[in-house]
Amino acid sequence: MTPGTKVLVVEDDPQMVRFLRATLTAHDLTVAVAGGVAAGATAAAADPPDVVLLDLGLPDGDGLELVRQLRVWSAVPIIVLSARGREDDKVAALDAGADDYLTKPFGVRELFARIRVALRHRPGATAAPVLTAGAITIDDERHEVRVEDRVVKLTPIEYRLLALLVRHAGKVLTHRMLLKEIWGPNAVEHVHYVRVHMAALRAKVEANPSRPRWLLTEPGVGYRLSDGSDAAAP
Ligand code: CA
Repeated sequence: MTPGTKVLVVEDDPQMVRFLRATLTAHDLTVAVAGGVAAGATAAAADPPDVVLLDLGLPDGDGLELVRQLRVWSAVPIIVLSARGREDDKVAALDAGADDYLTKPFGVRELFARIRVALRHRPGATAAPVLTAGAITIDDERHEVRVEDRVVKLTPIEYRLLALLVRHAGKVLTHRMLLKEIWGPNAVEHVHYVRVHMAALRAKVEANPSRPRWLLTEPGVGYRLSDGSDAAAP
């Protein structure tokens, strides 16, 4: 591992934090610590880490929630460290986009072996936390969405939905994929979730929500965010 590799530890147990901080810094890794889902998202956007070590039982939510949030804009390797050892828990974490899963208690050597593997498989760079498509700009660090030059206030679900569409601008995203990414693998049949939130999103983003310019419906399939190359609506 390269000295200075940045590790973001998202963990609320002080003893575990102390252990990880001591172990990682002893190996010349740079460690940042966040104690919850929201703090983890903020820390990852402010200073994108090279690898994330993530606890699942966090005071303000489930660690999987953070996996889904990060996956909207980042391919950073995420290793779940959890006392939950059931196969279902592991599958859920990997389905949500985690790269690996280590059951507590674990040995230091095994932890470092997993970190090395995660770093080897890491893509070249983390995506910049500013996403754009056509007239839509999302500053993920500031959690700010602009359409043309107008700031648009979105709910957390609307924000994640729009960020996912912007990230894949020009491509069709199926209902199933949107449901899995935003609401999790258990929600893939609930197409109405997407419809309801897409309607709300259009009302905020589109000048004329009944004739959308950006958030386009692919009938029976899903949605596509125009990258600006579609013919302008009259
Ligand atoms: Ca915990």
